[in-house]
Amino acid sequence: MNGSGTMAPKKKAKPVRIAHELSRNRRRAIQKALAEHQVEDRAEWDRASDWSDYRFYRKLVKKGTIRTIELPLLEVTIGDPWSTSVTIIHGKRPGPTITILGGMHGDELTGPSACTHLLSTAFTDPEKPLDPETLAGTIRIVPVVNMPGYRSKSRYFPDGRDLNRNFPGNAKGSSTRRVAAQVWRYLVEDSDAIIDLHSAGKGRSNMPQLRVDLAHAGSNILAKAFGIEILLDSKPPKGSLRNHANMEDIPAITYEGGGANWLDQTSVKVAVHGVMNVLRKLKMVPGKPHRPRFRMLASGSTWLRAGEGGLLDLFVDSGSIMKEGDVVARISDPATPGLSVDILAPEDGLMICIATNPFVAAGMPVGHFLPISKHMSLLEEQVDGFGRFITQGSLEEPVWREEEEIEVEVRGEWDGGSVDSGWLEATLEEVNRDDNTEEEA
Ligand SMILES: [Zn+2]
Repeated sequence: MNGSGTMAPKKKAKPVRIAHELSRNRRRAIQKALAEHQVEDRAEWDRASDWSDYRFYRKLVKKGTIRTIELPLLEVTIGDPWSTSVTIIHGKRPGPTITILGGMHGDELTGPSACTHLLSTAFTDPEKPLDPETLAGTIRIVPVVNMPGYRSKSRYFPDGRDLNRNFPGNAKGSSTRRVAAQVWRYLVEDSDAIIDLHSAGKGRSNMPQLRVDLAHAGSNILAKAFGIEILLDSKPPKGSLRNHANMEDIPAITYEGGGANWLDQTSVKVAVHGVMNVLRKLKMVPGKPHRPRFRMLASGSTWLRAGEGGLLDLFVDSGSIMKEGDVVARISDPATPGLSVDILAPEDGLMICIATNPFVAAGMPVGHFLPISKHMSLLEEQVDGFGRFITQGSLEEPVWREEEEIEVEVRGEWDGGSVDSGWLEATLEEVNRDDNTEEEA
């Protein structure tokens, strides 16, 4: 209490950190990794140091310019070489090299869309955030890594393999392994940071979330800079890009938002917001990263599964905040009308992913649930009208939708004195004409 009776000066609200379910051992490992992390002194990034043109796949990108270069991924048949477009924004000033990947799984469109916006004139024009004249360092953006998968709307490569389970690849291995080796050599190995943008697989939808090994210090720093609330502390899957990048001590994070074969604009906005935050953190663009009000560091989650087969009636969405016992979904079976089974939230928590396919068999996942034991009220303060958690960055105005107003001078005046009169006349004429011609048709 302030004894004088006057108002105490308003303190700036401190961001709250929630260590949710991280075991004590895990927390210790993370703290140790961060404490031991030496921020390398990279003299070559000093503003005054020499900075030259950039070479990618034998092609030159001049300082302060943007260039798109085709990176061949695999020799295939005539007219169908597997390749992908890599756009390089090579800043005028020295700085790190960051690689932003989309479409590693060909049917996940959040990454391709976010990358496309980042490469639009709304970002790259003079004086815009990614103007190469003012950028420090080099950004490599690959909207669609798995181009053959994208074209066939499939997660996989044409040989049926998952690119993101075949790293670091093998130049003499299977087709997908050869592609992985090429991606590794040209896009991963020399990266100072990697952001891999994904969506949920077929039949599911994710709320915006990051996957990161928080005990890898460089990745931990990237994940926090990204500036969203939900961080899943997870060891990456074997053979994934993130796994092998971390093994080589390359900071890498995976963003998840939306689902396969559709475009969730909220997830796209959050992805763009996060990438810009990371660029700020790396001092490649000016400004400070926007911090979320709190972070939820989660190490455990539960898949809610259907007890029986049938049709799924979902009561919730991805991002819905649940109280213990709330109905998540009801399953009814056309073979037994009148009978239904409810799936309930096992405890308080957050639906971070939901099924989008209403056909379920017994044992199929209906949702991915994050149980929350503490600080639930922080989440509840940040919900939309449908009880869904609002991720930081999702409410920002998408700058790529801003239109410029151009005044065009038109000679003449409205036909008949009013704006719509011409339209009305034309419509009436058509109606009359239709009446006359009906019998001939
Ligand atoms: Zn994916």
